[in-house]
Amino acid sequence: MEQYTVAELEDALKVVKRLLPPRYECLACYVNRMLDHGCNGLKWCTTYRDLRAPRATAMERKFPELGGYCDCEVLANVFRINDELWPHAEDGSTDDTYVPQCHKVRLGTIKPCELWLMRSGVQWGGGAFRQAKKAS
Ligand SMILES: [Zn+2]
Ligand SMILES: [Zn+2]
Repeated sequence: MEQYTVAELEDALKVVKRLLPPRYECLACYVNRMLDHGCNGLKWCTTYRDLRAPRATAMERKFPELGGYCDCEVLANVFRINDELWPHAEDGSTDDTYVPQCHKVRLGTIKPCELWLMRSGVQWGGGAFRQAKKAS
């Protein structure tokens, strides 16, 4: 067995904590933040689900049906920015350099907070999807 010092373990925990969804943060805000760490299947969605909404077991089936085969596609196709609540640049487009704080949801749901709209059927009502930012 390898041994770790308490300081090493505490540092490691800090890193892990940053990757976990805080209580009441919604799935969409969480995945939006986590995409900075790259996209790898539905990893962030399932991390959120397992920790915060373990009963949402239909997620892996439902999200791909709506075009979300991986986390960035979920943000592009399953959730949509609720324009009214996001700051706008001078030309009227949504300013995505500033991400508002999550409006918070109850525990146990994969529904987003008011900052996002969730696609429920096959098509949106004609709105254009927001392109997810490329993970750097
Ligand atoms: Zn992706
Ligand atoms: Zn949120």
